[in-house]
Amino acid sequence: KPALLWLRNDLRLHDNPALAAALAGGGPVLPVYILDEQMGAASRWWLHHSLTRLQADFAQRGAALVLRRGDPARIIPELAAQTGATAVHAARSFEPALRDSDRAVDAALRPHNIGFHRHLSTSLFAPERIQTKTGGAYGVYTPFANACFSAGVPETLCPTPAHIPGLPGISGDTLAGWSLLPKKPDWAAGLRASWTPGEAGAHARLDEFLAKPVREYATARDIPALPGTSRLSPHVHFGEISPRFVWHRAAALGDAPGVKTFLKELLWREFSINLLWQHRDLRTRPIRAEFAGFPWAENAPALRAWQRGQTGIPIVDAGMRELWQTGWMHNRVRMICASYLVKHLLLPWQLGEAWFWDTLCEADEAANAASWQWVAGCGADAAPYFRIFNPVLQGQKFDPTGAYVRRYVPELARLPDRDIQSPWEAPPQILLGAGVKLGSSYPYPIVSLAEGRARALGAYAALRGK
Ligand code: FAD
Repeated sequence: KPALLWLRNDLRLHDNPALAAALAGGGPVLPVYILDEQMGAASRWWLHHSLTRLQADFAQRGAALVLRRGDPARIIPELAAQTGATAVHAARSFEPALRDSDRAVDAALRPHNIGFHRHLSTSLFAPERIQTKTGGAYGVYTPFANACFSAGVPETLCPTPAHIPGLPGISGDTLAGWSLLPKKPDWAAGLRASWTPGEAGAHARLDEFLAKPVREYATARDIPALPGTSRLSPHVHFGEISPRFVWHRAAALGDAPGVKTFLKELLWREFSINLLWQHRDLRTRPIRAEFAGFPWAENAPALRAWQRGQTGIPIVDAGMRELWQTGWMHNRVRMICASYLVKHLLLPWQLGEAWFWDTLCEADEAANAASWQWVAGCGADAAPYFRIFNPVLQGQKFDPTGAYVRRYVPELARLPDRDIQSPWEAPPQILLGAGVKLGSSYPYPIVSLAEGRARALGAYAALRGK
């Protein structure tokens, strides 16, 4: 009997339990992908290329990947009826909208005796698996991570199938028809130069990282000018590589320096998934309820300056431009840029979350919202709001030679190391010599760091005093 394979954020053939289960039925398999209309622009760019490669990988093995758009609760039962499929296999998804749509799909299939089987594939653990001793969900990362280490990540992986018996003649959309790529202006040149979406690209990226950078990871991961982190996040987000596989490949390096730190980062991802599982509205509502009454500012010009990397704070502008140009930003700089938005500019974290959602290739409902809440001080196990990063000191510490700022803010490139993180403090002759004209070639800070900090602390005190 035929089986449907409904692909979501598991766009791969290797270690794909839903694919393995569909094949185990012994009949032909119809792989289908239904467009997620909520995706941001950079993610849509990634999806286009990822699906292009996945279509080729399926075709090479004998099956055609069918593309559809619309309501899954209509499309999946229709396809099942058309093909005579008796089972539908998919990855378990933890995003609230997908959970709702899964319930609807299940309800629509049930009367026809078609089984809807979901497989653990996009995370290391099912959220309900990692619980406190009293059966509750963890709200603090360290005990959560310890519980994950004790639980152990299952070691059996599903091999890449050599042949996938397909079901010809089922029509679908074309990728070109979905118009996922930008047209005018074509802002994706930097994305094309930075990434190879798809399963092969994901494996190459992991191999490269484990060959060497992982050994320096514990220290180099905080230096944005270095290729010190894996840059696997978009691949992992789209499921082009299985998190279990990443875990075991890294863990196989044993006590090599950096490995444990890297595994712990993978567990931050799990922690975010658990938080989204507990808090459906993680993207909009602060976990710490008192923050709902925070006296945020309204300031459209400041938001625009932040989005465009024109705040006058070099490390913030470098980060925001890296994001715009490459669809990714270094984690240390994400924290600096996010903190600057919610503290120095006093703008609501949801505005930052929304901008990252649109511009990150790996925009992830769980990791993005949980991280924004963490920086804003209203999340689980969050940094306290009153601990305010000074972006100049952060820049001097983590980009001491200014190499990162020079890469993304070329108008400051000729400033000496000493001045590059705070050009407004540089002597006039140094600025002149470096060709920097503050206020025209590069902005003055849109808010003074001291004033921004004092205003943020005042707002926090007002919240506490309520
Ligand atoms: P590595 O350091 O190599 O880490 C390996 C993997 O672990 C990553 O690929 C990622 O899957 C996971 N990971 C690492 N750090 C975190 C973390 N703090 N939280 C969750 N998972 C983590 N990550 C996303 O995947 N999607 C997002 O939309 C996202 N938005 C963020 C927004 C803000 C404001 C901040 C501060 C962080 C955000 N992160 C997000 C987390 C983190 O910045 C990225 O996962 C990381 O920078 C990706 O680079 P990498 O693959 O080189 O990471």
